[in-house]
Amino acid sequence: MSSDILVQGDVPPPASGGQPLLTVKDLSVEFGLRGQKRVRAVDQVSFDIRPGEHVGLVGESGSGKSVTSLAIMGLLPKRGSHVSGEITYAGRDLLTLPRSDMSKLRGNDIAMVFQDPMTSLNPVVRIGVQLSEVVSRHNQVSKSEARDRAGDLLRKVGIPDPVRRLKEYPHQLSGGMRQRVLIAIALACEPRLLIADEPTTALDVTIQAQVLEVLKELVADTQAALLMITHDLGVVAGLCDRVNVMYSGRIVESTTRDVLFAEPRHPYTGGLLRSIPRLDTPRGEPLVAIPGSPTNTLPWTQGCGFAPRCPNAQDDCRTVPPALVEQGPRLLRCHHPLDPAAASAPAELAEAFRKPRPEETS
Ligand code: ADP
Ligand code: MG
Repeated sequence: MSSDILVQGDVPPPASGGQPLLTVKDLSVEFGLRGQKRVRAVDQVSFDIRPGEHVGLVGESGSGKSVTSLAIMGLLPKRGSHVSGEITYAGRDLLTLPRSDMSKLRGNDIAMVFQDPMTSLNPVVRIGVQLSEVVSRHNQVSKSEARDRAGDLLRKVGIPDPVRRLKEYPHQLSGGMRQRVLIAIALACEPRLLIADEPTTALDVTIQAQVLEVLKELVADTQAALLMITHDLGVVAGLCDRVNVMYSGRIVESTTRDVLFAEPRHPYTGGLLRSIPRLDTPRGEPLVAIPGSPTNTLPWTQGCGFAPRCPNAQDDCRTVPPALVEQGPRLLRCHHPLDPAAASAPAELAEAFRKPRPEETS
């Protein structure tokens, strides 16, 4: 047993009290058909979410975020995927739950919003029918009542002229509107947990902010817990209580949003923070990208996965795998973290991210 397993339970104090609604413990997912070499996409990931809490799972493309969420939802392909660890939801072990119970849980208790709304909506069924179906599945209401509620839901997610929109097909709506419809569908059944996987990544920047605002309001209204999956730390800034940063299948830093933004310690977190487009950055100033690509990783068994791209990497990073250990208010997996004093800590970032450019306010 590696030392990781022993320390991963020491999660920092949650933002809100009470028993966790969802607990993911030492979750690993490997892919590979029989006879093939297995690839580990998720490696001993542990985190929890309390009722009503908003938790972020952040990392570049390929870090294992979607695979983690699909494992929670029981949606990984049966053939060729190997899941180990524990996933507990409201005291129930999701990994051993019968398929029929799991599908009852999906859409009732746990809902999901995906990146691409076009693949999640049925292209040949009118928006109104798709929404009222969800409403009547969860409430004993007449057809006309379900339709009225569908209209209310569209109004709630900020779609103008809902009566007309209900009669339209998905392709007649803009990308932003389609994503609003999906959020309305996900929250129509009042889930206790919403998993949003890159819900705004396919939208353009101005629409992204509006859709995030809608999501935030609805999640607050329904008091649902939220697992927000994104590659963009800017998205979690305005939304999440706690954040888990993932690199190449493993959590590398986990703490509250405020601690993370005030004082990032993992060089990868620091890189993600510097690559956020900030509205208060003067026009023309380039974004600082993390050098290299997310596919450039060292096998975790050899050392730190991020070492090939890390500005702080030293010899031990390439030979000794760092464990995820408690360091003050956070869990950190790093031999040579950013110096807390020197970490260009944009403490005001969460707020600055939301501030319009001076010329936009005038
Ligand atoms: P993210 O959502 O963080 O961008 P994913 O969770 O989709 O990343 O993927 C993590 C890794 O798992 C990637 O390297 C990806 O290629 C691999 N992967 C995902 N799904 C499968 C699959 N069905 N079969 C094989 N490999 C997969
Ligand atoms: Mg993904």
